[in-house]
Amino acid sequence: MSYAEYKDKVLEFIEAHEKWRASTINLIASENVTSPSVTRAVASGFMHKYAEGWPRQRYYQGCKYVDEVELIGVDLFCRLFKSDFADLRPISGTNANQAAFFGLTQPGDNVIVLHTSHGGHISHMPFGAAGMRGLNVFTWPFDNESFNIDVDKAAQLIREKEPKLVVFGGSLFPFPHPVKELAPVAKEVGAYVMYDAAHVLGLIAGGEFQDPLREGADIVTSSTHKTFPGPQGGVILYKNFGEDVAKLQWAIFPGVLSNHHLHHMAGKVITAAEMLEYGEAYAKQIVKNAKALAEALAEEGFNVIGEDQGYTKSHQVIVDVSDLHEAAGGWAAPLLEEAGIILNKNLLPWDPLEKVNTPSGLRIGVQEMTRVGMMEDDMKEIARFMRRVLIDKEDPKKVEKEVFEFRRQFQKVYYSFDYGLPMKE
Ligand SMILES: *Cc1c(COP(=O)(O)O)cnc(C)c1O
Repeated sequence: MSYAEYKDKVLEFIEAHEKWRASTINLIASENVTSPSVTRAVASGFMHKYAEGWPRQRYYQGCKYVDEVELIGVDLFCRLFKSDFADLRPISGTNANQAAFFGLTQPGDNVIVLHTSHGGHISHMPFGAAGMRGLNVFTWPFDNESFNIDVDKAAQLIREKEPKLVVFGGSLFPFPHPVKELAPVAKEVGAYVMYDAAHVLGLIAGGEFQDPLREGADIVTSSTHKTFPGPQGGVILYKNFGEDVAKLQWAIFPGVLSNHHLHHMAGKVITAAEMLEYGEAYAKQIVKNAKALAEALAEEGFNVIGEDQGYTKSHQVIVDVSDLHEAAGGWAAPLLEEAGIILNKNLLPWDPLEKVNTPSGLRIGVQEMTRVGMMEDDMKEIARFMRRVLIDKEDPKKVEKEVFEFRRQFQKVYYSFDYGLPMKE
C-alpha cells in the first residue's frame, strides 16, 4: 500500500465506525455522544495550541481566545455544581485522580477506596494511581445484599486506619454511596473526603443521584464523557478547604500535566452550558430509562441485580447472566455485539478474580440511548432484543437487522442547543 492509501484506510475505518455506532444500541456505561456543537469544538483549531498555567497568566503567548473560553468554563462549572473552584485542565478522570492524590496526600499515607471487585476504579488501587503515589490502600467493607458500602464497618475502618483521604465513587455504581453518613467520621480523623464522579457527573449536574459537595465531600474528581456528555477529558471541582488548596492546584499543574488539550477543554465548556440548560431533563430521563430497562429485563426473565433497592438509581443496570451459560458475561457480551447491542461484561462483587474473562455480570448504561431520544417504551424493546439473543437463542445476525432498523429512528443528539429536547410521540 502507498502511504496515501494508509491515510485513506484510516479515514475509511473512521467512517465505518461512525456509521456502525449510529446503527447499534450502545449500552457501554462509560460512553456517550457529543452534540454537533461540542464535536465542532473538538475538531477546532484549539487543538493546535499550547496553554500552560492559568488563563491570563500563561507560560505561552497566543492564548487570548483560549483564555476567554476557559474562564467561561470555570464559571459555568462552578455554577452547575455549586463549587468554589473548578479546574478544567485534567485531561482524563485518571489524570484528575492523580492530581488529587498528589495534592492531598504524602507517600505512606493511608487511603480508603472502593475495591475494583466491588466496582471501584483501577486508578484508586495499589496497582493504579493511588499505588503510584505510594499510598497504603485499604478498601471499603462492602455489603453484597445492599450492593453498597457497609456504613458501620466503614466507620470502624476509618477510625482504625485514620486515613488522610477517603474516596467514594466507582465504575459499577447503581446506588449512591453513603457520603453523608461517613464524611463526618472522616472529618473526625482529619481525612479529606473525595468523590470520584466519573460515571455519574451528568446525573449530579441534573440534580439526580446524590450531591457529594453538599453531603460532605471536599473534592469531586471526574471524567467528562460518561453521563456528562462531553468530549473525553477530566475535571476537578472543590470547596475552599484552606491552605491545601494551593497544593492541589500545584499538583494539577505543573504536577501531573502541562498542556491541557484545549479543544477538549472548549468542548467541556459547551457541554456545561448544555447541562445548565437541559441537564435536569436529561438526568431525569436517564434514571427513568434505567429503571424501565431493569424492570423490562426482569420481566423478560433476566436476573437483574438490586431488586430490593428498586434495581438502580443511576444510569446503570446490572444483570447476572451466570444462570444462562458457564462463560456467563464472557459469552453474552460478544454474542450481543453480533446482534448490534454493545455492552461490557463485568465482575460482580461475589465473583472470584479468576473469573475476569468469564464474569457473572453485564454492565448496562442507558445514558447514550437516552441522549439520542429513547424513552421508557424503547427500553422495553431493548429488553426484548436481549431476551431473543440470550434466552431464546435466536440467530444474532437476524436480530441485528431488526436492531439496526429500530435504531434508525434515533439519529439526533438531544438535550443540546442543536436539537433541544426530544419530542415524545
Ligand atoms: C472511568 C473512570 C475513571 C477514569 O476515567 P478516564 O477518563 O478514562 O481516565 C475514574 N474513576 C472512575 C470511577 C471511573 O469509572
